[in-house]
Amino acid sequence: MAEAPAITHVFVAHCETSSGILNPIAEISEATYRAGRKFLIDSMCAFGAIPVEVSTLKFEAVVSSANKCIEGVPGFGFVLARKTALAKAKGNAHSLCLDLHAQWQHMNKSGQWRFTPLTHVVAAFLEALRTHKAEGGMAARGARYRRNRDVIVTGMRELGFETLLDEHWLSPIIVTLFLSRRSGICV
Ligand SMILES: *Cc1c(COP(=O)(O)O)cnc(C)c1O
Repeated sequence: MAEAPAITHVFVAHCETSSGILNPIAEISEATYRAGRKFLIDSMCAFGAIPVEVSTLKFEAVVSSANKCIEGVPGFGFVLARKTALAKAKGNAHSLCLDLHAQWQHMNKSGQWRFTPLTHVVAAFLEALRTHKAEGGMAARGARYRRNRDVIVTGMRELGFETLLDEHWLSPIIVTLFLSRRSGICV
């Protein structure tokens, strides 16, 4: 970052979907703000099962969606953003429908989406949040995913498969395995 002053923001995939790596967002956040840059998190397939500590972790915005660890149906994403960062983004969207600032303003003013509301997806999301809470929230869901991951990884290793990543990088959500020791092809 010191060599690239044009870099203004650091963006990280919390749990990276293809490799299955669980990135250390707290360390990356610290390094980012130490270098005077801003931090954005794609927590699509981690939020709801892995902690994103809003009170201690510094970031401008974190993005997730209804259909991953919250276990709702696909249909919308959501963003937790610092209001100051969101206010600065006014007029800076490359797309009409993904203009978060415009949607935020419209929601504040009218309580409505700017386009046809996805009523059934929101209803399913509320149900998914109830289920999430009943399961024991983020900690319990993360623990269930970790148990499942351990069963699968142990079983696959017994069958002779190798994980792409070393143990401490393995996310509880996605694990990538080599098809065989020699092929180097991942599944
Ligand atoms: C699934 C996923 C997306 C795409 O999200 P959808 O709401 O399913 O389209 C983006 N980034 C990551 C890291 C993901 O896992």
